[in-house]
Amino acid sequence: MARYRDALCRQCRREGEKLFLKGDRCFTEKCGVERRKYPPGQHGQRRSKLTDYAIQLREKQKVRNTYGLLEKQFRRYYEWASTKKGVTGEVLLQYLERRLDNVVYRMGFAHNRRQARQFVGHGHFLVNGRRLNIPSYLVRVGDVVEVKESSRKMPAISDSLQKAQHRGILEWVEVDAGNFRGKMDHIPSREEIPLPVHEQLIVELYSK
Ligand code: SF4
Repeated sequence: MARYRDALCRQCRREGEKLFLKGDRCFTEKCGVERRKYPPGQHGQRRSKLTDYAIQLREKQKVRNTYGLLEKQFRRYYEWASTKKGVTGEVLLQYLERRLDNVVYRMGFAHNRRQARQFVGHGHFLVNGRRLNIPSYLVRVGDVVEVKESSRKMPAISDSLQKAQHRGILEWVEVDAGNFRGKMDHIPSREEIPLPVHEQLIVELYSK
């Protein structure tokens, strides 16, 4: 499968803000955005005024990169969202949040979404008791996501769980860290998705 291979911090620097793609490092002064507060590349330090189109594009890229998706996959979520009832931008974010790799990350079983995707792909998780290795699986309300018995000793998972408890878990997922298990309580509302983006700009971009 095609995937993005360039340095992750470049993506944050391009957007001029932290996308939290790495985990612990994102909270230290080693963070790429903290160290170099300008876009990457030869002309990164040039100032230029963004057009409306560029502002919409950057917003879309920010969200797409946050969830680690390629354009085609991201566009598909938009197409689905645009056919559903409700505010398209919010529905789009809800779809993205319901991806299994994101839910694993939100429950604190992984340091970042990329790691969560790898854990899922390697079959370390069960959904409702069945092994599921599809990161794009859309978790439904009431679904129980748990770490496979034989994977519970993995230091990366327990370390991540411990740190997530300190950071705090979101309200739309319930986590039973002792049993390496979590449940999706409800579909998150926009206010429950901690993502500082203007999703309306993405809708404007795609509906041109
Ligand atoms: Fe982004 Fe994290 Fe790199 Fe900082 S350390 S630039 S937040 S990926």
